[in-house]
This record gives sequence, C-alpha cells and structure tokens, in this order.
Amino acid sequence: MKALVLHGKQDLRYETNFPEPTPAPGEVLLRMTYSSICQTDIEVWQHDPFGMFERRPEPRIQGHEAAGVVEALGEGVTSLKVGDRVAVENVRTCGLCFFCRKGRSSLCENGRNFGFTDNGGLGEYAVWLASMCIKLPDSMSNEEAPLSEPTSVGVHAVMNAGVSVGDTAAVIGCGVVGLATMQVLQAAGASVVAIDTRPSSLKLASELGATATLNPKEVDPAEVLPGMTNGYGPDVIIETAGAHGTALNAVQWVRRGGKAVIVGFASTPQEIVFSRAVSGEKTVMGSSAAGIGEYRKAVELIASGKVNVKPLISALVPLDRGIEDGFERMLKPTKDVYRILVGNG
Ligand SMILES: [Zn+2]
Ligand SMILES: [Zn+2]
Repeated sequence: MKALVLHGKQDLRYETNFPEPTPAPGEVLLRMTYSSICQTDIEVWQHDPFGMFERRPEPRIQGHEAAGVVEALGEGVTSLKVGDRVAVENVRTCGLCFFCRKGRSSLCENGRNFGFTDNGGLGEYAVWLASMCIKLPDSMSNEEAPLSEPTSVGVHAVMNAGVSVGDTAAVIGCGVVGLATMQVLQAAGASVVAIDTRPSSLKLASELGATATLNPKEVDPAEVLPGMTNGYGPDVIIETAGAHGTALNAVQWVRRGGKAVIVGFASTPQEIVFSRAVSGEKTVMGSSAAGIGEYRKAVELIASGKVNVKPLISALVPLDRGIEDGFERMLKPTKDVYRILVGNG
C-alpha cells in the first residue's frame, strides 16, 4: 500500500509497496481518510525527541491525529461494522500498570500510541483496537475527525484545571491545541482571555468566542489581566505555546490560589521563583495527552458544535504530496497554517 514511512531522523519517504496490515483479534482494519500533521510529528521526524528509533529502529508510519472507515473486522469484533466512519483514539493504555490502576492512564508505563510506537494514519490502511475507534456522529465530517486528537488534549487540560462554571481562564498560545482548549473551557462554563503574539491567531480566537484577547507584544498581561478578571487575575491559566518563558508566564499571571496547567513542551529551561508561588499558594501542573473517556468527549464536543475545528483546517493534501505540501511546509519558520490534513478522503 501507499504510505509515508519514517525510517529515522530526517528520513521520511513516500512508499508504494508498504505491507498492508491485517487486524488481530479485537482490532479493525481501517481505510484511512485523513490524518493531520502536528508539530510533534515534525519534531519526531527532525529530532526523534522521545528516542523511539533508539528503542525500536523499524520504519513506521506516522499520523496520530487520524480518521478512517472500517474496511474489515478482526476476530470477535462486534462493536463496529464495515463502512463505519471512525476517529482513532490514539493512546492505547494497558489498564494494568501502577498508574492505570490509580486512574491516571495518561501516565501508563506500557502505553502504545497510534502513529508513534505503532503504525499510524499516514498510509492507505491501518489497524487499531476496535474499542479505540470512535464512531463518528453523522454531524461530524471526515475532515473534522482528526482534530479530535488535539481537542482531547484540551479536554484533558481542562479536566486537570478543575474548571467550574463562572471561572475566569486564560489560554497562552492560540495554535490548534490552544484554540481547541479555549473552546473546551467555554463549554465548561469559563470565560477565556486568549493570549498570543500573532494578530491572526487572536482574530480567530475572538471569532471562536474569546471574551478578550491580549498580545504581549503590545500590552503587559501581568498588568491588564487582573482588570479583565475581577481584579485578581485568571482562576486558571492553560499554557499551550511551549515557547521559552511561557510556562513561567502562566505561573506569574494566574491569580493567587489559582492553577497553572502546562501543556506546551519547551526545550529550554525556565527558572521559577518558588517563593512567589509559595506565598501565592499557586498550583502548577503538567498535562499530557488525554485520559480514558476524554477522546470520546472531544468527538462529542466537535459533533455538537461546541468546539469548532473547521477554521483550524488549513489545507487538504493527497498522500503522495504529503511530504512536499505537508511536512516540508510545516517545517518552514514562516508557516502560516494550523493543521494540514493528509489523505485521500
Ligand atoms: Zn498532535
Ligand atoms: Zn498502564
């Protein structure tokens, strides 16, 4: 079959005779419709930051934000039928390890991940556990479906933030995860200030319902945020930018007694003055991927229109152009895209 196959750092190839997978018991064979490329795919392609190829050098297909149509059923599968359109819940946890048994499945020690440890969606076909293929409601398109993954990251962050109705929140970083997170916060009953240095992203944040927007290049959020949030600063700040200093900003700008949830991965160290966090009784928490049930919630939020991912789809690219018009375009420092979807629909 045709696929984009990663052979190691900076060695991504379009192949036409990659072996077609067969579903094991409990799995389904999917004909992939679209997968979106995110910055993590670019990082893995360029730098292999998780050391995946050191642990297991075999070539593999990326694409962890993926959707497809059920083509064949493995033994014992009754929850889906051939022709069902599905989104792929990408994190497959063991349910047995220390963390899974404590209900913290996002920390699973034996986790497998569609598109990282296992072959993902950037091929014509893929296999995955039927129980982790979520049937798309009729109101949800094949194009929207891959965006369930970044939305599930937002759902997890909002659950970790423990937001309640009427809370004030801020989101730092208005990329795909940030704009999805912002809408999940709104669905949870919070008002949201969107913070980014790109005017076009702030404009989109406004269109998607941000209560206010802030550009740190123009104003100092530390000065203006309290006035926008009852005088004290946001109850919760979710940081999704992963830039140098932005995690620190989240801790600084959240109100005393508030919670800073850090989602973005920054590669540079950031120093925190702990005495200020201590005297302000601030909570700082990391949030990674999604937990049990949160991917399904993301699908429901998109299908019901509470999270609008349509403006986050920047281009549709066929598989055979995925490297040139997808990965290489994402690599450019001047990239002007949210998500590029690769596939043949
Ligand atoms: Zn991603
Ligand atoms: Zn586990």
